[in-house]
Amino acid sequence: MRVLSFIQLLATAVTVTALVPRIPTPGVVANDLKSLVSTASSVSVDLPARWSDYNLPLPSVVVNVASENDVAIVIKYCTKQGIKFLAQNGGRGWGKTFNLGSNGVLINLAALNKVTFSANKTQATIGGGAIIGDVIPAANAAGALVVTGNCNCLGALGAMLGAGYGNLMGEVGFGVDNIISLRVVIASGEVITVSKTSYPDLFWAMRGAGPNFGVVISATVKSMPATAEDRTAWINNLYFAPEKLPQVAQAIQDLPLLPHQRIYLVLTNSGNNNEPVVLVTGYLRKGTEQTGRAAFAPIYALGPSSESSTIADYEEWNVSNDGFCTSGGQKPAYSTTINNMQAQKWPEIWNLYTAFQKKGPNSAVLIERYNLTKAQSVPDSSAALSGALRRQAFAQAIVIPWYDDVTLEAEALTFGQKVRDIWSFSTTPTDNPTYINFAHGDESLSAIYGSSLPRLQTLKKTWDPRGAFTQWFPIK
Ligand SMILES: Cc1cc2nc3c(=O)[nH]c(=O)nc-3n(C[C@H](O)[C@H](O)[C@H](O)COP(=O)(O)OP(=O)(O)OC[C@H]3O[C@@H](n4cnc5c(N)ncnc54)[C@H](O)[C@@H]3O)c2cc1C
Repeated sequence: MRVLSFIQLLATAVTVTALVPRIPTPGVVANDLKSLVSTASSVSVDLPARWSDYNLPLPSVVVNVASENDVAIVIKYCTKQGIKFLAQNGGRGWGKTFNLGSNGVLINLAALNKVTFSANKTQATIGGGAIIGDVIPAANAAGALVVTGNCNCLGALGAMLGAGYGNLMGEVGFGVDNIISLRVVIASGEVITVSKTSYPDLFWAMRGAGPNFGVVISATVKSMPATAEDRTAWINNLYFAPEKLPQVAQAIQDLPLLPHQRIYLVLTNSGNNNEPVVLVTGYLRKGTEQTGRAAFAPIYALGPSSESSTIADYEEWNVSNDGFCTSGGQKPAYSTTINNMQAQKWPEIWNLYTAFQKKGPNSAVLIERYNLTKAQSVPDSSAALSGALRRQAFAQAIVIPWYDDVTLEAEALTFGQKVRDIWSFSTTPTDNPTYINFAHGDESLSAIYGSSLPRLQTLKKTWDPRGAFTQWFPIK
């Protein structure tokens, strides 16, 4: 946590207010908000931890809200005063589009983390501050499955509003495809419920571009009643010699993925003297040793140098990704959608990776491939997320330079861009379709929003005419 003292802030307030009376200083903003929000909330200068310190948002005031009314009050105050603000859920967003100026306010949603299930377990209501580590235990206790991302530290809705990739998506589609309704604080400070039948335009926009249109207090989403066996998955880890990367990549390209199956290729730190390794990790819901090995047979046939597998209960599915959740450090990640594994390019990617990984040992390269049949059964026009994610994406590709020494920045950016350049199937890599929640922040808006962009631009004028929501791949 970064801490500025209130005395410092108040001192600034007194000095600067005398000179420039119209711009409320952080001290003034903090005092004003303190007097406006509920007593259950708090106003502080302690910044909740974020995943990456690279280009992180630097607010001057943090409001730990306790109710939807608190959120509405902060938004009304900030829009009236012309102060930038940002809602924070899991704090894992890495896009470098944050800019809170000199007196920005962070709305910490963490206390709005309630997760409830309907009696018949077909609907879950997820608080805007819940992390996935809140959602999965609640779903497990209810005897249900609900689509989430694959790391427990993520804001459940932060991830879902952009699209929402996760283990269950081959069976139920993207997170956004499962949203039934949203309780949203909009730019005017009003709190409204949006759904297919209530403000349908905004409902469409929220599902793919949510942070540009409002702060979600809670989302009601579809869930699946599930037996204890339904809530298990067979998960494997296979390590390969780097020389086998082209064959491994080709096998991932050719693998016929079942709806309840997903596969990742990861270049990562082995944990043994920081040695880089090639890891393939798979998931098969309700899989057994027998069905699991059958589903991943072409990968096993390549002769991993070591391997392990386990049948994991629902609450353990994401545990192996906990290291990836670690907060702090510089992580200027890049990503793009790939339409092909380009198997022969992997020796080059390995060389780029190992050269940088010597300096940033936890750096990683990831390919995430999911079954898209269910996602493709929904028309592109049903939600604002870029249709390219449903149609053109073979997989998502991510490169994460991860280091502490800020003097490595230029090298890190070059490494990330070079790998993205290799993956891109567009002439200009920053125009290649890119998942908003994995994007770096240097992409064109059409790379992020695809053919939804013109309609989003029109709706932005209707729902946020003064540009209150400007922090997450802002629509202009
Ligand atoms: C370790 C790791 C693992 C990941 N795994 C996955 C994965 O499995 N699947 C996947 O799809 N993505 C994944 N991602 C990407 C993830 O979706 C994004 O990082 C996402 O932005 C995280 O949301 P957050 O709430 O944690 O972050 P934050 O930084 O808190 O939020 C990101 C943006 O969303 C906005 N936002 C958050 N909550 C709300 C809300 N309630 N209402 C309105 N706006 C809101 C914020 O204002 C901000 O602009 C992963 C990222 C990391 C770092």
